[in-house]
Parts: sequence; structure tokens; C-alpha cells
Amino acid sequence: MHYCQRCEPAVGLEPTADVAVCSRCGWTEPGRREPLYVVTGASGSGKSAIFAPLAAALPDCVVFDVDWLIDPMKATGSLDWDAFRDAWLSVAHGIAQGRRSTVLLGPLMPEQLVGLPSRRWIGPVHFAVLDCTDEQRRARLDARPSWREHAIGEHLAFAAQLRRTISTVLHTRQIRPLNTSPNG
Ligand SMILES: [Zn+2]
Repeated sequence: MHYCQRCEPAVGLEPTADVAVCSRCGWTEPGRREPLYVVTGASGSGKSAIFAPLAAALPDCVVFDVDWLIDPMKATGSLDWDAFRDAWLSVAHGIAQGRRSTVLLGPLMPEQLVGLPSRRWIGPVHFAVLDCTDEQRRARLDARPSWREHAIGEHLAFAAQLRRTISTVLHTRQIRPLNTSPNG
């Protein structure tokens, strides 16, 4: 990510406050860090449904659905999930240089970000989990088109795990599946 522009061979810079510093020669460049906000949840939690309203409600942040990088990163073969998550941290660090925070919507777990190469270039990471009852989740997953995965048992287990792990829980009882009328 940040490399010294003076040293040979290449030296990776270290984060210090809002600056990236070469520990060998003292070269510095801007390396601002901002908080990262992650809105996680198992499939059927309502992540897709809140994306557009959340982006509209938070003009000072940049909001992403992490799934948007799955297809491009799969293009060369199977997806390396650690590289995928690290890419998002890199994107968030880039956005921080414009003094904005990033909000990631995606099925992430706190421990999946610990130790990634770009983690140290991000400020504090705050997680919230979108949750609903198992019954609501089943109904939402059943309403999806057939090309989306339907491993309902796995999604229920992941939801239970997130509920145990993350203390900020947002219930999405009111959120209906996309393209479903209020009476549907
Ligand atoms: Zn240097």
C-alpha cells in the first residue's frame, strides 16, 4: 500500500497518527485513518434493502455493498476471501484520504479483519448486525429468485453466531423483501 519513494529495496511505510512513515529514512506521506463502519448480517437480514436508504442518509460517508467486488475478483478463478476483505480495507483507506469514513454492508465478522495487511491503515472498526427472527429470515430467503443461494440452515446458524458475537443489533422486522408490495 504505502512504500517509501526513496529507499532501495522497497520499504513498506508504517502508520503513525495520520502519516505514513519510512522507519529506515524517515520519508513521510499522508496516511490518514478514519473509522470503518461495518453493517453485517446473515443472508435475509435486509442488507440489500437498506443499502440505498443508508447511502442517501449518510452523505458524509461512502457506503458499499461488499458483494460488488465478488464478480470482478472471481474473474481470474476462485475467490481469495482474505484478499477480498483486504481489498475493501484498502478502498476504505483511500476514501479516508478525503476525510470520509466508509460503511461496508456485507456478511463480515470482526475477527476476519484482524491481521489483514491493510487493517493497520484503518481507524477503529465498528460493527452492527442486522437481525430478524428465524421465521422472517426463512420467508425472505424463500421469496428470492432461484439463482440466489438457498442454504437456509447455514444462514440461520450464521445469524445465531453474529447475534452472539456483536453487541450492536439492529432489528429489521419492518423490512420486506425487495420488489414485494406492502400487501404481498
Ligand atoms: Zn525510506
